[in-house]
Amino acid sequence: MNLVVQIAVAHTTTGAPNPHPSNAAVAGSAAGQAVETNTSSPSADLASAIGPIGLLLLVALAAFALYLVSLSLHPNAKCNRCNGAGRHKGYVFSYAQRPCSSCKGRGVHPRIGRKVLFKT
Ligand SMILES: [Zn+2]
Repeated sequence: MNLVVQIAVAHTTTGAPNPHPSNAAVAGSAAGQAVETNTSSPSADLASAIGPIGLLLLVALAAFALYLVSLSLHPNAKCNRCNGAGRHKGYVFSYAQRPCSSCKGRGVHPRIGRKVLFKT
């Protein structure tokens, strides 16, 4: 019985998640530092390998990927005709209004990139 308890304690102490994540965190930070120090020189090598035009292309590709993410997250933009209100008020009789003919009363338009790239 005593041996079982000792084994259980040993098991729980060895199997406790505390030592592992701290070790993993330390290893991860060390690995991250190692990766950072490693990537600094290969990125310079990459930059010299692909040249300034290739680097520019890489940056443009990254910007385009960010734009795609932005399009998927926020597909609509405010209507400029009605300023997002979805309706137009009369100038003389300001209580009179009609739905915006541009956005059909929704107040938003699909973004240009969405129209061009996703055909919606
Ligand atoms: Zn509108």
